[in-house]
Amino acid sequence: MKILVSGAGVAGLALGRVLGTSGHHVTVVERAGRLRGNGSPIDIRGDAIEVAGRMGILPAVRDARIRMTEQVHFVDENGVAVGRLPADIGDSPDDLEIAREDLSRILADAQPETVRLRLGESVTSIAAHDDRVDVGFASGTAERFDLVLGADGVHSAVRRLVFGPERDWIRHLGLYVAIADMPGEADAGAERINPMYSYPGHLAGVARFKDRAIGLLMFASDPIDYDHRDVDAQKAILADRFGDCRAWKVPAILDAVRADPDVYFDSISQIHLPGWHRGRVALVGDAAHCASPLAGRGTSLALTGAQFLAEELERADGDHVTAFPRYEARQRPYVTFAQGTVEGGGALLVPPTAQAIAARNRLLQPVAAGR
Ligand SMILES: Cc1cc2nc3c(=O)[nH]c(=O)nc-3n(C[C@H](O)[C@H](O)[C@H](O)COP(=O)(O)OP(=O)(O)OC[C@H]3O[C@@H](n4cnc5c(N)ncnc54)[C@H](O)[C@@H]3O)c2cc1C
Repeated sequence: MKILVSGAGVAGLALGRVLGTSGHHVTVVERAGRLRGNGSPIDIRGDAIEVAGRMGILPAVRDARIRMTEQVHFVDENGVAVGRLPADIGDSPDDLEIAREDLSRILADAQPETVRLRLGESVTSIAAHDDRVDVGFASGTAERFDLVLGADGVHSAVRRLVFGPERDWIRHLGLYVAIADMPGEADAGAERINPMYSYPGHLAGVARFKDRAIGLLMFASDPIDYDHRDVDAQKAILADRFGDCRAWKVPAILDAVRADPDVYFDSISQIHLPGWHRGRVALVGDAAHCASPLAGRGTSLALTGAQFLAEELERADGDHVTAFPRYEARQRPYVTFAQGTVEGGGALLVPPTAQAIAARNRLLQPVAAGR
C-alpha cells in the first residue's frame, strides 16, 4: 500500500521502519527542516523492549544506553544537596534509558528503501474517501494515499483535520516544561550528579548524560494561550516565569533557554480520544494518546503502537477495517496504564508551597556528606 505518515518523531520513524519492512511504500513528512533530537533522555520500558527487538533496533539501543536518573539530587538555593531520589530508579533491566537524539538516529538509520522522508513538509488538508485519501501539503503539492497515519505528536495536525480541534481531546495537568541545551555544564565533574532546585510552583534542574548537559525548567500554571510553534513566544513565557529568581543556577538555565534555537517547550498534558481511527486514517503515539512526560512512557507507547499497527495490517492482509480496531485493542491497555501513572508526580516535582517542598524533601533519601 501507499501510506502517508505525518511526523518523524519516535512514532513516525518506527512506523516507517515496520511498514517499510513489510513492503509498503511509505512517505514520512516532518514539519521541521531536520530530525529533531533535542529534549531530555527517554525510556524504553517493559514490553516496548521486546518490541524494539522485533523491530531489529534493540542491539543499537543497548549500545547507546545511558543511566542518569539514579543521580538526581534535590538542592537548596545555594546548591547544597537536601536529599536524593532512590538509587534504583532508572537502573532496572526493564527500563532502557537513551538520549532522544540517539533513538531518533537509530530509527532513521533503520528506514528501508521503500520509505521516503520529506523534511520541511506538513499536511494541510485530508479528504478521506472509501477507497483512498487525498492529501494536500504545505508545499502546495497534493497526493493520493491508501492510508494516512498521524504520528505528529500532542499537537497533531492529522488529528485536528480528521477528528476535530485539540481542545476536545487535551487534558492539561497543570504544568509546563522546557528543556534547553546547556553546553557550559557538560563537563562539570566526574560525579555527573543531576541537581534539581524547587521553589514554590517552580522547578529548575541540570541533567548530564554522555558529553551533554541540558537545563530543565518546570512551572505550575493554568493553560496559557500561545502559538506552540512560536519559539520566541515560548521563551518570553519562560522569562516571565523565571526572570525574577536569582537563586542557584536559575539565571544560567534561563540564559541557556534564550540561547537555544531548538528549546523544547510544552504543556504537560494528556490526550484522551474515544477512538484512534476513522476510515482510512489512524493516529499513533502522542497524537493518539499522549500520557505526558510525567508518565515517562511516551516513547514506549510510540514503539508498541507502531509495531501493533503494522502487525495487524499484515495479519489482516492490508484490510484497515479489520486491522485498525485490533491495533487499538492491543494498544489500549498500555495507554490506560501509562496515563494512570501520573497521579502525584507533578506535586512531587513542583510542590506549590514552601511547606510542601519541605514535606517532599523529608521523603528523600539522605545524601552522604561532601557529595
Ligand atoms: C523536539 C522534541 C523534544 C521532546 N523532548 C521531550 C522531553 O524532553 N521529555 C519528554 O518527556 N518528552 C519529550 N518529547 C516528547 C516525546 O518525544 C514523545 O512523548 C514520545 O517520544 C512519543 O513520540 P511521538 O513520535 O508520538 O511524538 P513526538 O516525539 O512529539 O514527535 C512528533 C513529530 O511530529 C512532528 N510534527 C508536529 N506537527 C507536525 C505536522 N503538522 N506535520 C508534520 N510533522 C509534524 C514534530 O516535529 C515531531 O518530530 C519531545 C518531543 C519533541 C518533538
